[in-house]
Formats: sequence, structure tokens, C-alpha cells
Amino acid sequence: MTPTSKLPKPRPQSMPEAEVEKARALGFCFGVRRAIKIIEKAAKGHHRIATLGPIVHNRLVVAKLADMGVEVVDDLARAKSGIVAITSHGVPPELLEQIQMRQIEVIDTTCPTVRSAQKAARKLAGGGFGVVIFGEANHPEVKGLLGWAGDKAIATMDGEELAKLSLPRKLGILSQTTQSRAQFTRFINKVVDIALPNIQELRIINTLCQETQKRQEAAVELAQKSDLMIVVGGLNSANTKRLAEVCAPIVATHLIETAAEIETVWLRGKKHIGVTAGASAPDEAIEEVVTKLETLPTG
Ligand code: SF4
Repeated sequence: MTPTSKLPKPRPQSMPEAEVEKARALGFCFGVRRAIKIIEKAAKGHHRIATLGPIVHNRLVVAKLADMGVEVVDDLARAKSGIVAITSHGVPPELLEQIQMRQIEVIDTTCPTVRSAQKAARKLAGGGFGVVIFGEANHPEVKGLLGWAGDKAIATMDGEELAKLSLPRKLGILSQTTQSRAQFTRFINKVVDIALPNIQELRIINTLCQETQKRQEAAVELAQKSDLMIVVGGLNSANTKRLAEVCAPIVATHLIETAAEIETVWLRGKKHIGVTAGASAPDEAIEEVVTKLETLPTG
């Protein structure tokens, strides 16, 4: 290797450059890495595996696993494979019972952080609390949490909605793991305003995921010194959408899944471009985005 081989390629003088910086915390979290590792290991053992929904909310990851023979089904009845895998988002206890009744072999990749939230929900319900989950009612993790939280549990992101309900005397609140701390705090304050006069006991369990919080804080920090933010990740990924939501009020922000979606017009006149990525975005997708941003002209 010659002493000059490590020097960056010279750029034409006329081509304006943007500095591209990655957030100090971004991409795969431990729960996603763990889930993928478990599935890959099982697939390499030549088992046919059906996951109940995408193992993580990223189509690149799902496509890679499909190449290894891992199919995605939306219903237990559709699983043709001998082995069924529970995704990192977890499932309600009724679904676990159905799997056991059918004597299907199961691989459980539920993230330990989600598992803790499920246990908290079950404990509240067992203690006689009506449970409110701050989260998106249609998200698989929230559907699972509702199952653990008892018959009277509800999921909402709208504190005002609670004013219309007759709330139990004992109220427990927890959050979908990937929500933002600021929004969860605002929600709790609203519930206190609305409900406290009529309830006897309010219990709040902090089930927010620290990995998600670290990525959100790092994204905000980077957005504050950037003039454009690019968020890489699945368009159906809750934690990725949240990253875009926390950056958007600070600076122009675009959420993309792959480098091919970058539009040159976004880069015009930009000098410092920040890149962050959701917890289910693979390293290769992030690096492709950074490389493309570094090579595209900004003038
Ligand atoms: S974002 Fe948090 S809760 Fe979700 S899989 Fe990763 S570590 Fe688990």
C-alpha cells in the first residue's frame, strides 16, 4: 500500500460538498439483533419457519430471511411450516395458548424489553387496575400488550379520549416501548388533569425502551446542528417513524428505506446532513445512504 492510498478521492473544485454525519446511536438495537440471530440460526438448521408477521418492520431484513426459507404469515392457520416464530413485538397470551393447543413447535423472539412491558401489564391487571396503554392500537406490540392487560384495557394516544370514558377507581398506565418520552409525559399529564378527581389510585409504569430513547436523543442532538436529516428505516416501523417525528420540527427531514429514494433536490444548498436510522434498519442500508449522500452534488 502506498502512503497516498488512504487519501480521499479529489472532488472537482466546482462541486459543493456536504458534511455527512451519523447519529451517535442508530440502527439495529439489541432486541432486533437478537431476533434476527435466533431466526437465522434456526433457518441454517434447515428448518422451514413461518413468522407471525414480519420478524422486524424492515422489508430488507424480511427479504434476506425469505432467501433463507423464512416465510411471513399473518395468521397462525396459514402457517404451512412445522415451526412458527413469534416476532420481536411479542403476542397476546391467547395466541400462545392456540400455538400450544396445536402442538406447533415455536421459536419465541419476543424482545426482553417488550416481555417486561407484558409482565407489567399482567401485574396491573392482576392487581385490579384498569390498564391504559399509550400506543398505536393497531401495532402488533400493542395488540400483544392489550392481551396481557386484561379485558378492560384500552390503547390510545389521545388523553382527551379518556375524558369520555368511565374510568376505573384504580388506573394503571404504561407505554408502547417505542413511543417518545416527551409524548408519553404529555399524555400522563393530560390523564392526571382529566382523571385524578375521580380515581383512587394511579400507577404509571415506565415501559419505554432505553434503546429507542437513546436513538431519539441522538437524532434530536444531530438535527439541531444539521440543515437536513435523513432517517433510514422501514416505513411501517414505529420507532423509525418516531425518529422522523422528533427531527421534523427542528429541520427538514426525510424518511427513506433505501439510498435509491434520495432525491438530489433535497440536498440543494445543504452543508451538514445528519443521518439516523431506526432500530430495524440494517447496517448495509445505512452505509449505502451515507455513501450516496457523500457523493451527490449539493449545488
Ligand atoms: S426497539 Fe427496544 S423494544 Fe423494540 S426490539 Fe429494540 S430493544 Fe426491543
